[in-house]
Amino acid sequence: MRLAETLKERIRRAGPISVADYMEACANAYYAKGDAFGAGGDFITAPEISQTFGEIVGLWCAVTWQALGSPKAFRLIECGPGRGTLMADALRAAARVPGFKDAARIHLVERSAKLREKQREALKGEVVSWHDDIDDVPLGVAIVVANEFLDALPIRQWEKTGRGWIERAVDVNASGAFRFTRGAARDLDIPLAISADAKEGAIFETSPAVIGWTRALANRLVEHGGAALVIDYGHTATAVGDTLQAVKAHRYHSALEDPGEADLTAHVDFEAVGTAAREMGAKVFGPVPQGGWLARLGITVRAAQLAAGKDELKAKEIEGAVRRLVAPDGMGLLFKVLAFTHPALEACEGFEQDAAR
Ligand code: SAH
Repeated sequence: MRLAETLKERIRRAGPISVADYMEACANAYYAKGDAFGAGGDFITAPEISQTFGEIVGLWCAVTWQALGSPKAFRLIECGPGRGTLMADALRAAARVPGFKDAARIHLVERSAKLREKQREALKGEVVSWHDDIDDVPLGVAIVVANEFLDALPIRQWEKTGRGWIERAVDVNASGAFRFTRGAARDLDIPLAISADAKEGAIFETSPAVIGWTRALANRLVEHGGAALVIDYGHTATAVGDTLQAVKAHRYHSALEDPGEADLTAHVDFEAVGTAAREMGAKVFGPVPQGGWLARLGITVRAAQLAAGKDELKAKEIEGAVRRLVAPDGMGLLFKVLAFTHPALEACEGFEQDAAR
């Protein structure tokens, strides 16, 4: 049965479901298909745009490993590795740093069997373990990367009404189409600064899944050592706004149409992520815009190296792809980079503009 039918049956039986439950069901069905990425799929991500992205992330991992004291063995973990492109590019670049590759134990957190298969192919020749959840990865010093992972985790949406904040839910109308409605839950936990300024009808988003992931990982890094790098689209400061979006075949799509057939995501609240990590005792660097972070780590130099000796068309293509990653009107400003680490880590590469707090 298609997901739409399963969800309609569930709603008819038990009433409207929360946006979070709807989003989770969609994500599971969508990623299980395993054919979302790249020019022929629904959307394209930074590592699929240019190999330099994964290479720079790999160099960040290697420098961070050195800053952690070059441990003889550590866990290199990626959450939501997609097609495995980022990890393959990262390993190739980081292998130039003596000792890094031998010390790295590679762990991928991925639930989709089809995507695991693609990752296995991209990482042929490497020893890799797969896990459904980051909590299943064995303990030890860890360097963790998550690019466009948190945006896929479910959010809850709250609407400001005359009777306070009420959770938004998904229902089915008389003609059988999905629609938004008001659910039963009332949130008493909306930040005061947000609540005081919000107008009636405003939407506020929270993500227990994102915060739960951050807290568990920060706790682990504080206890066992290591650092996590989060890259995603989102906002630096907590704010109201409806950011739930669906993308299919590189175009925006209705979030309520064809559930499970489009990529359903939300912007990441980086202030909330930073606060959650700090509350667990981690040190937080950023968020900083992706463009500046990549530039400080040398992406332009790397692009020039790659383009040197190539014919003009190819060289232009390489430079154009990198421009898309860093340009303010491309991914350079909308995407942010944040790291949280063991509190003893003094500096973190690429965040110099923003002193650690
Ligand atoms: N990082 C990749 C892919 C981003 S898409 C890139 O930049 O190209 C999101 C990825 O997260 C997919 O691999 C998807 O299967 C995975 N994913 C989504 N929700 C997940 C969850 N709850 N647990 C584990 N993996 C998840």
